[in-house]
Amino acid sequence: MRKKVVIIGAGPAGLFSAYKLSNNNRFDIVLLDKGRDVDSRKCQLEYTGVCENCDPCNVLYGTGGSGCLSDGILNLRPDIGGDLEELTNDAKKAQNLVDEVDSIFLKHGAPENLFIGETENIENLQRKSEAVGIKFIQIPQRHIGSDYTPVVINSIKKYLEKKGVKFVSLADVIRIKKEKNIYKTTYLQNKQTHEINSEYIIAAPGRAGSGFLMSLIKDLGIKIEHQPIDIGVRVEVSKVVMQPVIDVNRDPKFHIYSKTYDDFVRTFCTNHEGYVMKEQYDGYVGVNGHSMRDIKSPNSNFAFLSKVTLTSPVEDTTSYGVSIAKIATVLGGGNPLVQRFGDLRRGRRSTPERIKRSKITPTLLSATPGDIAMALPYRIVTNLIESLEMLDNVIPGVGSDSTLLYAPEIKFYGIRVKVNNSMETNIPNLFVAGDGVGLSRDIVNSASTGILAAEGILKKESSS
Ligand SMILES: Cc1cc2nc3c(=O)[nH]c(=O)nc-3n(C[C@H](O)[C@H](O)[C@H](O)COP(=O)(O)OP(=O)(O)OC[C@H]3O[C@@H](n4cnc5c(N)ncnc54)[C@H](O)[C@@H]3O)c2cc1C
Repeated sequence: MRKKVVIIGAGPAGLFSAYKLSNNNRFDIVLLDKGRDVDSRKCQLEYTGVCENCDPCNVLYGTGGSGCLSDGILNLRPDIGGDLEELTNDAKKAQNLVDEVDSIFLKHGAPENLFIGETENIENLQRKSEAVGIKFIQIPQRHIGSDYTPVVINSIKKYLEKKGVKFVSLADVIRIKKEKNIYKTTYLQNKQTHEINSEYIIAAPGRAGSGFLMSLIKDLGIKIEHQPIDIGVRVEVSKVVMQPVIDVNRDPKFHIYSKTYDDFVRTFCTNHEGYVMKEQYDGYVGVNGHSMRDIKSPNSNFAFLSKVTLTSPVEDTTSYGVSIAKIATVLGGGNPLVQRFGDLRRGRRSTPERIKRSKITPTLLSATPGDIAMALPYRIVTNLIESLEMLDNVIPGVGSDSTLLYAPEIKFYGIRVKVNNSMETNIPNLFVAGDGVGLSRDIVNSASTGILAAEGILKKESSS
């Protein structure tokens, strides 16, 4: 008998789980996503500098997930953007998953050329970094570009539809109940309530689906653990500052320990010749970045993040992060804050006039000039200042007075759903995958966890 699988979220995790399952002709697969179809997802912010407050936000929600309008950098390592080896307990399997995801992207139009870097240049950068106590991590990468990512996603979608996968857009899942062995998924579409029954669920709602995830955890009694989160800023510099490092690695990762607190600080998600963008969440804003293959800015940006771990009696890092994001949102009048590094260092606010005098023109025009030190805790600000000054030894210019910092950039991996190595939760036949459930932090790793969840269902079916 054919079994039904409902997948919540058509981001990389959901799409790749559908991909794996659809190769086996035993399932009716329905993919529900709260956002629009890939062709209808347009964000005017990058063209006009004005956020139209689309509901739901086209950057975060819709077919392709938050990865769809992203820069589309594929980090081809199982230990970057997650830890597949830890999840699978098998180093070879972890690398195979990365290769499988990469081959699917290639099949659907990702560019053939890979950024690997010249060995001599890599070693030079490693030497320069280690001399000042920084670790440089080399990663083979493929760059799709935010202008081509929707094309690749569309190709994947069309392939899946041909295989019989049903996509339902603007389907906001509000509840899942379990009655005997059947899951009843309720979603809202055009203000109407629909219900769909299935034997299996794969919940892959991404980070923007955290509200839904929390209610699911509560309703079904799913076991979780708290995780550290990353709080910091998006750094924007002139592209010439980043060019020598970009020549070695498209998305260079530097790991730093701050001098005063010995806290872990890292670079993440570099967008060369890219744009800083606003993210609109429920009740607060955040920043991120993207770059395109064809349209270039004169700047480069990257996330600069300080890791925060909370221990008993307060372990809820998500609430902590949200409260910080809300303060920043209040200070920015509903928009992210922007400040020159020199102003932050000297303890003064960046005014619109000071930003205008900066050698760098901000790419996020809606950001409010302000004082990041009034939004982020002292410890995090200290970590960021000290670490950016250290990084200036490796990338001269990133620590200059005119470097722009946007806040808040917060990566919520606060909750991790407890799973076995098939991504099955403590509730039988309820699988999870991707960033929202704390199992990944990038496109390749989230897609890999989607494949693992699909394999988990296949394994259960073959043994039943
Ligand atoms: C601007 C930006 C740039 C990025 N750049 C890169 C990059 O270059 N390289 C990289 O590796 N990573 C990048 N990332 C991160 C990457 O996009 C994510 O790691 C990845 O998309 C996570 O995949 P996911 O499937 O877990 O979640 P998502 O991609 O977030 O997808 C989750 C989906 O679930 C849907 N959903 C949520 N709640 C519900 C609900 N209640 N009902 C129905 N559907 C729901 C959402 O609409 C969404 O489509 C970027 C992220 C952003 C936001």
